[in-house]
Amino acid sequence: MIKIDGSIGEGGGQILRTALGLSLVTGEPFTIENIRAKRSKPGLLRQHLTAVEAATKIGDAKVDGNVIGSQKLTFYPGEVTAGEYHFSVGTAGSATLVLQTILPALMIADSPSIIVIEGGTHNPFAPPVDFLKIVFAPILKQMGVDLEVTLHRHGFYPAGGGKIEAKIVPIKKLKPIFLLERGKLKGIKARSLFAQIPGNVAVREIAVAKKHFSLEDDQSEIFQAMDSQGPGNIFTVEVDSENIREMFVGFGELRKSAEAVAHEAIEQVKKYLQIDAPVGTYLADQLLIPFALAKGGEFKTTALTLHSLTNAEIIEKFMDVKINFVDLGNGQCHVSI
Ligand code: AMP
Repeated sequence: MIKIDGSIGEGGGQILRTALGLSLVTGEPFTIENIRAKRSKPGLLRQHLTAVEAATKIGDAKVDGNVIGSQKLTFYPGEVTAGEYHFSVGTAGSATLVLQTILPALMIADSPSIIVIEGGTHNPFAPPVDFLKIVFAPILKQMGVDLEVTLHRHGFYPAGGGKIEAKIVPIKKLKPIFLLERGKLKGIKARSLFAQIPGNVAVREIAVAKKHFSLEDDQSEIFQAMDSQGPGNIFTVEVDSENIREMFVGFGELRKSAEAVAHEAIEQVKKYLQIDAPVGTYLADQLLIPFALAKGGEFKTTALTLHSLTNAEIIEKFMDVKINFVDLGNGQCHVSI
């Protein structure tokens, strides 16, 4: 039985999600205490309960402590069965993070899966569904896994009501890859997505990006989501380089100006472009599990986050891998598995 302290390092939901995911992969039961101890509302929220429920369903697991607010959970995995599943967070909690939980096991399962998840699709502190489609899935493809993510309905905090579908064609063992050079910059594209708020918010966000990056008209897009159950706005900047596509996000919220939302993403892009590493900070922590499953590979990232270090610590508890982080001193970090 693996014992995990959920308050270590970053102390958030990722510790639980990684533990659930790798418990399914390895068949190792675990117990976790102090779940999300460093968050303002510690313990299991709806989104985490749904992640536990999803892991329990696909892995025929037995679980203790899966109630709202619980800070302790014990999980005994059974056999993973790929196939068709439908999960619903029931609030605006992130659907993409529920997917992140069960993806490791489904990526190396015996047969394909189709997973439908209802909840938030564009949540702060989580990868927007576009990030999974545009950034994460193409990298998995290089590693041999086909992940096709479809957005059926937009869901923003606090109304929720979004719906995503993921088709996963697994591979027995992921292929190690090397993401060490970004390569030449091919293009930048800004996109403003909004629902049930004045359209000039999107126009202003795009104007800031156009001015900042000297974008042509075909390098920007405004999209109004008519299917959303509530208001919402996110602004994304895609950075397309020879060897990788990255994405940076500004999240709209009440009383935050359109300009501030645009700058939130633009500042991240500026930092990314200043430092010649292909992998941004969010992608870095999300690549650690696929790289661990490949039992090899290397990447360079722009800066080391506590998220990445904490995730590595949990991964090493479940798997016989060593994740090495070397600070290259120029704002870059070299990660090898
Ligand atoms: P946690 O804070 O522990 O719940 O984990 C949040 C997860 O969401 C991590 O895997 C982050 O990399 C990911 N994430 C948060 N914000 C973004 C963003 N703007 N773009 C992509 N991924 C994100």
